[in-house]
Amino acid sequence: MIRVEKLNKSFGDLHVLKDVDLEVNENEVVCLIGASGSGKSTLLRCLNFLEVKDNGKVIFAGDQIELKTHNINQVRQKVGMVFQHFNLFPHKTVLQNVAEAPIMVKKIERKKAEEEGKRLLDKVGLGDKYHVYPGKLSGGQKQRVAIARALAMKPEIMLFDEPTSALDPELVGEVLETMKQLAKEGMTMIVVTHEMGFAREVADRTIYMHDGRIVETGNSKELFDNPKEKRTQEFLSKVL
Ligand code: ATP
Ligand code: MG
Repeated sequence: MIRVEKLNKSFGDLHVLKDVDLEVNENEVVCLIGASGSGKSTLLRCLNFLEVKDNGKVIFAGDQIELKTHNINQVRQKVGMVFQHFNLFPHKTVLQNVAEAPIMVKKIERKKAEEEGKRLLDKVGLGDKYHVYPGKLSGGQKQRVAIARALAMKPEIMLFDEPTSALDPELVGEVLETMKQLAKEGMTMIVVTHEMGFAREVADRTIYMHDGRIVETGNSKELFDNPKEKRTQEFLSKVL
């Protein structure tokens, strides 16, 4: 589904991603863990072309994507992204938030887009909030709207960047539950998270990043129970 080869990215003198190789297959759920500043967000943003890589390859569905040869907006439609801060449009209702991009970008008829939007909102447990403005929602509800909004574009892969980090502890569970449901339905997902329980339980694989490199990747349960690399062991002993 998506493959990265020898990806490098610097911000000025700061070499943030160092020869990163990564492959995520269809229907796979991969969690990305690592200390603050290790490059997790930058890697996700390179996958979605929110950051421009310095060199290396990003191969999506067998196609090597380059700014010169591809319409990045079209590629991006296939890659859904959910951020720590929900980035909803405050002056649009929940349903308008979800239906907007399909109508504007994909030129889907409004009635159809709204029907689909309602279906997605029902799915994330917000069937009674279609016409509410984001300001009236809890953080967990806002994040579920953001997930529905990303799904409305019918992405082939979903990228999550610490989707629960900004939430009050009691709201984390409902968002993780929604993500778990998506995973069960076979959505391909890459999730940057500090929720080690979620990674261990839901992710097929977990990747540990340190200082811009992938240090260890493995079956989630194996990586948590029996990390091979010393740096992974040290990290896990601090966070578990
Ligand atoms: P966190 O867990 O805190 O979110 P992270 O693993 O997501 O951390 P990144 O956000 O990818 O880390 O940042 C990696 C490094 O790159 C950090 O040192 C950060 O300060 C730097 N960095 C990220 N974005 C930029 C930018 N736009 N300009 C300059 N430096 C940046
Ligand atoms: Mg980050």
